[in-house]
Amino acid sequence: MNHKSIRNQYEYLSWTEINNIAAEKRSTIIWPFGAVEQHGPHLPLSTDSIFVDEIVKEVLKILPDELPILKIPTQYIGFSPEHLSFDGTLSISSNLITSIILEIGKQLSEMGFKRLILLNAHGGQISLLNTAARELRKVAPELNIFPCFIWSGVKGLSDLLPQSEMDNGLHASLAETSLMLAIKPEIVGTERPFEGFSQKIPEGWSLEGDSPTAWMTNDLSKSGVVGDSRGANEKLGNELRNLLVKHWYKLFLSLMSSDWPNE
Ligand SMILES: [Zn+2]
Repeated sequence: MNHKSIRNQYEYLSWTEINNIAAEKRSTIIWPFGAVEQHGPHLPLSTDSIFVDEIVKEVLKILPDELPILKIPTQYIGFSPEHLSFDGTLSISSNLITSIILEIGKQLSEMGFKRLILLNAHGGQISLLNTAARELRKVAPELNIFPCFIWSGVKGLSDLLPQSEMDNGLHASLAETSLMLAIKPEIVGTERPFEGFSQKIPEGWSLEGDSPTAWMTNDLSKSGVVGDSRGANEKLGNELRNLLVKHWYKLFLSLMSSDWPNE
């Protein structure tokens, strides 16, 4: 590990270093959120956690040295009730996740940190983190909180992924399998399921999006995959990884160059 990636990781610093960084005007914490949940027969349980942990570390490596921005340890176990019928899934209740965010967020605010980015990689907890961020703001009004989803707003995704993956690749399909082939190929299995779309959805309704349903994975899939993982490949994975790193690099850099939302 090089000096740079140690510098930006909270758990490797001393209390005096934290004391100095927290006091800086734009001091910012990135708190990555993932999940430990089934990802089909071919991907590891911690797929979402591994992605967000890796992308954040890569971004921190290329951000300018002097910025007061730190990553705290990734929250590996998340809110995954939709996958509990598959072995391996570990899920924490929404109340407990909210409590963890409130307690840790309040402590970070009391230390003097000004901003907290909740960077989440698990689609099933987007609205939970949005709600928890508002609850946290109530008890830590000085702290500005940014609940973000790692795949949201990333320009160029639709150039790399077919429309079917953009619409229906909900879980462990083309994008996730390819990205894991680029990040940790040694823990990707050989199966490539294609599943989850035999239901007739009435017009105007959808699994996710405008008129969604609170689906459980076993409503849709036997393998645990919701989507098509058949075309997954390392080249696509590297392109996705570069896009994600570039996107979050730009966003963190522009945030660190501004006082938003306190201007
Ligand atoms: Zn996932």
